[in-house]
Amino acid sequence: MILGVIADDFTGATDVASMLVRAGMHTVQVLGVPDGGLPEADAVVVALKTRTIAASDAVEQSLEALRALQAAGARQIYFKYCSTFDSTPAGNIGPVTEALMAALATSFTIACPAFPENGRTVFRGYLFVGDELLSESGMRHHPLTPMTDANLVRVLQSQTRGKVGLLRYDVLREDAAARIVELQGEGVEVAVADALNNADLLALAEACAELPLVTAGSGVALGLPPAYQRRGWFQPSSSAAQLETVAGPAAIVSGSCSEATNAQVARWLASGRPAIALDPLALHHGEKSVEQLLEQALAALASAPVLVYATAEPARVQAIQQALGVEVAGALVEFALAAIATGLVRAGVRRLVVAGGETSGAVVQALGVQQLRIGPPICPGVPWTQARLPAGGDALLLALKSGNFGAPDFFAQALRAAGVEL
Ligand code: ADP
Repeated sequence: MILGVIADDFTGATDVASMLVRAGMHTVQVLGVPDGGLPEADAVVVALKTRTIAASDAVEQSLEALRALQAAGARQIYFKYCSTFDSTPAGNIGPVTEALMAALATSFTIACPAFPENGRTVFRGYLFVGDELLSESGMRHHPLTPMTDANLVRVLQSQTRGKVGLLRYDVLREDAAARIVELQGEGVEVAVADALNNADLLALAEACAELPLVTAGSGVALGLPPAYQRRGWFQPSSSAAQLETVAGPAAIVSGSCSEATNAQVARWLASGRPAIALDPLALHHGEKSVEQLLEQALAALASAPVLVYATAEPARVQAIQQALGVEVAGALVEFALAAIATGLVRAGVRRLVVAGGETSGAVVQALGVQQLRIGPPICPGVPWTQARLPAGGDALLLALKSGNFGAPDFFAQALRAAGVEL
């Protein structure tokens, strides 16, 4: 193994894995730290769920993942977080970074959430989401990790004990490696790195390929494989993204209420394809059961791929959350969708699209899936992946879409990419 990645959430793990596969690395994603050894691959991504838990727990789980990756021989460690640097004032980006640095006995690393292809750029240490500063983007209203300061040096410094500095884009373009040596001389332990385009990410990755630890969004992963190749560590494989051909019925389960997913559900409904709506209030009041919804879905599935969705517009979600409480509503929907997805797979579905980060976590957990082989991308950040079902060992294709990814016709696009005729 060349690269061992520790990802702080589930769909973020798939995002970075997809980037590595695109550059020709055979990549496997494992869900949590496995008890046994890690699978053989050029890169292994350990998907944790540590973004918003207590910092001490995040540190502990990240160190456990590190030990497993080190035992499997990883040459470099990559701590992957969100391209909007999602974190609370207490962390967890800073504390996890410092704990990994200590465990790896290294005194320098970088921090770079930039993902220019998805509109995330860092300029003079300030993070932009499209044309807006992070602090003026929708992220300022995030329910769990509101980001109200776009200056990443300041944000990270408030979470770390060591000195945080800046690797500015103009210096990075001139001679990143020399600047890194200077920064280390100035006592900087973590350098926030600018990146405005893919060329910057490539230059940054080249300068960082031999650091024991890199911390970043998924963007930097674009540049590491070519840097490894230049060092003779690996040859890109044209079959890195190849998955088995899987036949069998197809379905979509959607628990994301983000803007992009609302548009995708609307497009599917407008095309007149089979769809079953899950109403959290009807479920809560016992007017409808999970079994009934599953039966309806199975009946529809007999003729064509079916969508089961809890996706709703913000006003409707708010009304449901007011009636049930945010957590109860979320858990109710996640549990129901996971049970329906499991029922669909038990009935033979082998190509499954799931919309929503938390929803994906719940579905994959309910299916008992522990490893995903990463295949070709459907859109930036969302690849098809392949799992093995614990009962029977059948191959199952899974597309796990984080809320805001994908064009309005994403569902049909994903199914067609998996060979489904629509
Ligand atoms: P995203 O990736 O868009 O953030 P997630 O699946 O991570 O999507 O989060 C969506 C959350 O909203 C989940 O906890 C889900 O159960 C919940 N949810 C989905 N539909 C509804 C609804 N109609 N009312 C209230 N909560 C909902």
